[in-house]
Amino acid sequence: MSTDCIFCKIAQGDIPVELAYKDDQVMAFRDIAPQAPHHLLIVPLEHIPTTLDLEEKHRTLVGHIYLVAAKLARELGIAEDGFRVVNNCNEAAGQTVWHLHFHLLGGRDLSWPPG
Ligand code: AMP
Repeated sequence: MSTDCIFCKIAQGDIPVELAYKDDQVMAFRDIAPQAPHHLLIVPLEHIPTTLDLEEKHRTLVGHIYLVAAKLARELGIAEDGFRVVNNCNEAAGQTVWHLHFHLLGGRDLSWPPG
């Protein structure tokens, strides 16, 4: 928990979000500025700033995040058409919140390569 982290505050229930999923390791909620008809953020409850801060002890957590992404994609009805799971790491990749998170995007044709 980091006191000045917006996603830690969301995990604590201090900032309201449209929650899609929560368990003892991760939560998923609707992005406040959606880039697709379906845009969720999958966020570990533990404060991990970036992908570069992942350690060996997080191996299971990262696998769990992808299983949650697949489960949510199926529930949202975007699994068959296709969806994207994105993690932005550091400024040049567009990271703006320094608490590890994965974007789950779907519901429209997603261009590739991304801009
Ligand atoms: P990134 O730019 O990859 O770090 O993604 C951060 C994401 O967090 C952006 O897509 C924001 O729209 C989203 N975001 C920031 N604050 C909130 C919030 N209070 N509730 C939901 N999403 C948020």
